[in-house]
Amino acid sequence: MIRPILIHPDPRLKKICDPVAQVTPELAKLAQDMLDTMYDAPGIGLAAPQVGVTKRIIVMDCVKDPLVAPRPIVLFNPEIIWSSEDRSSYEEGCLSIPDQYAEVERPAEVRVRWMDLDGAVQEEQFADLWATCVQHEIDHLDGKLFIDYLRPLRRQMITRKMEKLKRDKAREAGAR
Ligand SMILES: [Zn+2]
Repeated sequence: MIRPILIHPDPRLKKICDPVAQVTPELAKLAQDMLDTMYDAPGIGLAAPQVGVTKRIIVMDCVKDPLVAPRPIVLFNPEIIWSSEDRSSYEEGCLSIPDQYAEVERPAEVRVRWMDLDGAVQEEQFADLWATCVQHEIDHLDGKLFIDYLRPLRRQMITRKMEKLKRDKAREAGAR
């Protein structure tokens, strides 16, 4: 099931999310909905607060090559346990901040520990786009957006654009 994605600014995108104690059938369903929503957008990552659920859950699939099999991953309580000193910069975007992109510098590689859908602990080292994506999504769980890394003026400009987008959307919905 595809869920509506919250658009910045929204207080639910600024919350510190709660850890998941155990993977209940409801949370497994939520994770599947999040993957459906992410693929539909389309995007490469999505965090639970983006669909209004303030729990520590993210989903990702950074495989972009149509000839390579998709690799959906669901991460409950993801935690960065190691970051490389090497940094890299990617042009990031966000499904909650549509059509806005900016270069963000982050550690080039990170090691992440999380609980999977079966409740088992997983650990993996991510590099390249996967590393950027997992850090961007974990930031969401702490109420942080990629625009928080930008200079205030740039951030305010993007926020104003999003406020206008939301007003226009509300007006459109009202006109129907
Ligand atoms: Zn995002």
